[in-house]
Amino acid sequence: MEIFDWRIARLLLFALHMKPIAKFVAPILVLSLVAMSFADDDKELPPPKDEPKVINPGPPPSDAIVLFDGKDLSKWKGAEGGDAKWDVKDGVATVNGTGTISTKQEFGDCQLHVEWASPAKVEGEGQGRGNSGVYFQGRYEVQVLDSYENKTYFHGQAGGVYKQTAPLVNACRKPGEWQAYDIIFHAPRFDKSGKLEKAATVTVLHNGVLIQDHTEILGTTSHVGHPKYAAHPLKQSLQLQDHHNPVKFRNIWIREL
Ligand code: MG
Repeated sequence: MEIFDWRIARLLLFALHMKPIAKFVAPILVLSLVAMSFADDDKELPPPKDEPKVINPGPPPSDAIVLFDGKDLSKWKGAEGGDAKWDVKDGVATVNGTGTISTKQEFGDCQLHVEWASPAKVEGEGQGRGNSGVYFQGRYEVQVLDSYENKTYFHGQAGGVYKQTAPLVNACRKPGEWQAYDIIFHAPRFDKSGKLEKAATVTVLHNGVLIQDHTEILGTTSHVGHPKYAAHPLKQSLQLQDHHNPVKFRNIWIREL
């Protein structure tokens, strides 16, 4: 430190006796700033205070809420609020025309895993073939459809944010084969007056393939009309759609974020 101080003092004396002073002072200042920036690069961020919680990754992960484990639909309610009446057999729940089912628990931001299979016997075409859906907050549908060699409007095929955003690719397996969606959903935020503060977003992996990449949801995914938001509470039920096609579901779990 003593040597350092002495050097600075000598430089200052030298600079004062020379004309113009700027010729000498300017390069010293520049060099000092460069040295300081290198010193900042060496500084590390403080480590996080909280240790990440230890969980068993499963599946299902030990911190997940299992919504359907193959035994019953006790975590779900039916279209009229009573029991969910889809057929449950051999670890599988099958849509049977009794109506859309909703979770009893309500969710905001979440990670969802759901496995589904469209009917092995191919019937119908377009939107009428293996149609169901995962409705976040009862409003925002990620389409379930047999999109294996089945043409329809692109934002209505499997993994589409219905009538808004087509999937990045079509990663659909053949009819009757089990498929998986892994979805990260962030709920929309509204201010006290009901004005949208932050749109919902959704990231979808279909059979492990990224098909929605932090896609902004533009509002409710209705069949008719432009999507629009209407304020609602942060947490709402998750729904599975009954579109009158016998789509099968199994291994459904959710993690609150
Ligand atoms: Mg649907």
